[in-house]
Amino acid sequence: MMNSIRENIQIIRKTLSKEICLVAVSKTKPDNLLMEAYKADQRVFGENKVQELVGKYERLPKDIQWHMIGHLQRNKVKYIAPFIALIHGVDSQRLLKEINKRAAQNDRSIDVLLQIHIAKEESKFGFDQEEVNQLLTSEAFLSMKNVNVRGLMGMATFTENNDTITTEFMDLKSLFDTLKQTYFKQSSDFDILSMGMTNDYKIAQACGSNMLRIGSAIFGPRN
Ligand SMILES: *Cc1c(COP(=O)(O)O)cnc(C)c1O
Repeated sequence: MMNSIRENIQIIRKTLSKEICLVAVSKTKPDNLLMEAYKADQRVFGENKVQELVGKYERLPKDIQWHMIGHLQRNKVKYIAPFIALIHGVDSQRLLKEINKRAAQNDRSIDVLLQIHIAKEESKFGFDQEEVNQLLTSEAFLSMKNVNVRGLMGMATFTENNDTITTEFMDLKSLFDTLKQTYFKQSSDFDILSMGMTNDYKIAQACGSNMLRIGSAIFGPRN
């Protein structure tokens, strides 16, 4: 017998320390399964498609915090700008600029994470170390008043090799610490390190993650 969603969430929560935020990744899953998680007191959900995210936002309880965890196209920012709680995958200055513009139009500030390329695979999106330094020191970035960079996000290589995953997560943690020291010393806002999914969240936690994005281990496999 498979566990219920409530049981899955409870099992995962037991292994997490209090400061860690669990993002329930509900992409492709129907509303009723999200509601099962909601009834188990889950309030933070992650989606990777704008249309699906907006639909679920409109139909489901308003105290849910929605996180956009996937690759975000600039022309779709406007649809989520009114309500999104956190955008994980910011991977270019142009995207950040668009988020800033749409946030201003909605008279709010939007929290974002900069996605860092840590995996060996070519296809993964994200800044490298030099690009992220360039961004954070640029005039353009410093003039953006409606985005709040809360931290970093990264995805490790998809591999069975735990050493590879550990090295990548440790590199990301160390970059996070360096950037915090260098650019965010005066503010307590740069405080989120989003790394770890179903297959690697235990490693991520050991490497200093404080935000896990977990789908399959909560909702079961996706087809
Ligand atoms: C789908 C997805 C996850 C969750 O993946 P699982 O392996 O099901 O836990 C986490 N992060 C991102 C960016 C995703 O797209």
